[in-house]
Amino acid sequence: MTIGYLRREQTFAAAHHYKLPWLDEAEAARLFGPLSIHGHNYVLHVTIRGEISDDHGMVENLKTIKSVIVDRVIAELDRKFLNDDVAYFKDKSPTLENLAGFIWERLEPAYPNGALHEIRITEEPELYLDKKAGSDDMFLTRGYHFCAAHRLHQASLSDEENRALFGKCTNPSGHGHNYRVEVTVKGDVDARTGTICNISDIDKLVDEKVIDYLDHMHLNCDIPEFADMNPTAENIARVIWERLGPKPGGAALHRVRLHETDRNVADYYGE
Ligand SMILES: [Zn+2]
Ligand SMILES: [Zn+2]
Repeated sequence: MTIGYLRREQTFAAAHHYKLPWLDEAEAARLFGPLSIHGHNYVLHVTIRGEISDDHGMVENLKTIKSVIVDRVIAELDRKFLNDDVAYFKDKSPTLENLAGFIWERLEPAYPNGALHEIRITEEPELYLDKKAGSDDMFLTRGYHFCAAHRLHQASLSDEENRALFGKCTNPSGHGHNYRVEVTVKGDVDARTGTICNISDIDKLVDEKVIDYLDHMHLNCDIPEFADMNPTAENIARVIWERLGPKPGGAALHRVRLHETDRNVADYYGE
């Protein structure tokens, strides 16, 4: 049996607000920002896992996957005001976490053999949530940007060896990147707030501990961690992990992903 994974993207637009009877307004504002009604263009990715059929070479017909998603999810959510129009949100916060719970509940019966593998919902360009089969955890990812200079240089090696390893990246004056860092936290959803953490606390922590610390710096010269450590993408991800601590915003840190360029990406899981 040969297993394949197939992903389909569908989009929907929906409105919501966080002026919720079960949350104090100050607490809601602290968690979600302004409480006014607003909308998002959501992007949903659904991944189906299954056997690659000997008969037709597919895990499942994409037309079928599309119609399952459209009938069970998109028709329920698109152009809706989640708080009032969707019964599921009468007593649940219309958060990404609860949207993922709703979408999973709607899709799972169509895939009784565990073929529903993963869903991702993106609410805005730097905010998305993943839910995966076999785990009660949800994974929330936020993206951030900073610019910094560095020189790839391993002090224990000769100039010759550094040049052989790092090429022009070891030029003595250094060079710069527009880095993008993704911070992923995981946890169960708090039934009252509908969240796994407070995103604004994570934003604040990342701003203080990472962006203010690294942005517009020369990593080798200005950042103590890199005085004796080569500032490769792997090591920068590791330093960011250590600076954030184990529970940013109250949820467990799962992954730090550093995009050095569009083509070079390093992941660090604290292992
Ligand atoms: Zn919103
Ligand atoms: Zn570089």
